[in-house]
Amino acid sequence: SKTITDVVCPFCGTLCDDLIVTTDDDGKKILGVDNACAIGAEKFVHSSDHSHRVTRPRKMQEDGSFKEITYEEAIEHTATILAKAKKPLMYGWSSTSCEADSVGHEIAELCGGIVDNTAAVCHGTTLIAVQNVGIPSCTLGEVKNRADRIIFWGCNPAHAHPRHMSRYSIFPRGYFTGKGAKQRKIIVVDPRPTDTSTLADVHLQVEQGYDYELLQALRAAIRGEPLVGDVIAGVPKETVYEAAEILKSGRFGVIFFGMGVTQSLGKDHNIDAAICLTKDLNDYTKFSIVAMRGHFNVTGSGQVLGWQFGFPYAVDLSRGFARYNPGETGAIEVLKRQEADAVFVLGSDPGAHFPMRCVKEIARLPSVAIDPHITPTTEICDVHVPVAFVGVEVGGNCYRMDNVPIEARKVVEPPEGMMSDYQFLSAVLDRVKELKAN
Ligand code: SF4
Repeated sequence: SKTITDVVCPFCGTLCDDLIVTTDDDGKKILGVDNACAIGAEKFVHSSDHSHRVTRPRKMQEDGSFKEITYEEAIEHTATILAKAKKPLMYGWSSTSCEADSVGHEIAELCGGIVDNTAAVCHGTTLIAVQNVGIPSCTLGEVKNRADRIIFWGCNPAHAHPRHMSRYSIFPRGYFTGKGAKQRKIIVVDPRPTDTSTLADVHLQVEQGYDYELLQALRAAIRGEPLVGDVIAGVPKETVYEAAEILKSGRFGVIFFGMGVTQSLGKDHNIDAAICLTKDLNDYTKFSIVAMRGHFNVTGSGQVLGWQFGFPYAVDLSRGFARYNPGETGAIEVLKRQEADAVFVLGSDPGAHFPMRCVKEIARLPSVAIDPHITPTTEICDVHVPVAFVGVEVGGNCYRMDNVPIEARKVVEPPEGMMSDYQFLSAVLDRVKELKAN
């Protein structure tokens, strides 16, 4: 058997880079995965079991069944619908490499498409807030080595980012945090008790939809200003003051926040307030704020769009230049208004996460889905192209939730003859160029 060290886990935005993967001598089958959490390990083990995988592209027939086609046919089909379309929607980009994203966006530019990523349904509001008020942030390494005050707001890393707490935020002993968890005070803000809140020194059980009020109350409490009323956003006034004192008395604190606050009432205004709270806390101590990004390379998708077009998501290229107006140019709005005339999905599953109106629209339009798995999206698209798992069967660059780029490694061979996202997109790009030239 062979042992590969320093493997990056391509499941969640924590991008743990200390995995050890054991494969058979031929590098075809994964025999074991050390250091990963249960969901990370499952991604590796599951991908090397080829028995359940689709290994060739499939095209939907009139009766709804699928017929196997070649990669060449899939490339021709994809290039043709994209080249013919006036405003194709190209959505996803989060569970793939930055290299693949870059090629996909080039196709979108050539075809005058809309490019949007999964921030549309998670941290898009964060990206808007960052543009509004900036962001005082730091790396997860700084959290491990320096942070003695941690807030988890609207997130449950015990389930969604299982090793976050042991590698970076609660338990590890770092350079200035030699006592690990004993040295840290933890505040969890969540309407419900969760497995993360059981680890908290203070659980602020905010009333559902009142995060904005609680954030502003904390800002006032930190300055010692009087709070009106005995209970604020479902939290007793004394507890708000207690939490404010805990935050001010630390040497270095971090707010981690998730979709419980980005997608609840208030949306980007919640994140504006959370960033302003972080800025206020810097009058008393050192504080940073970090988004708990979900899909493993969703951060990288925003980065690549940023380099190429200046905006991190919801980019409309249909006028020959980049326009960005979330709420108008995002995938969900474009589908609802029935503005797109073709759909291309890669590295995400809008069939499982978009409103039903949008899912029906994807099913109605000429469409292609690129995904290693069979998903609700692949089942409604005209063509499904299976590809190698990025970070398992093909390497590539990706960005951790704190915007640190990390190179993912290949640990096993993909099924024979299977293309990667990057190879498929590069072939489609070449063909689109030919079709446009003619
Ligand atoms: Fe993978 Fe996330 Fe688990 Fe780390 S915490 S092993 S990145 S799924």
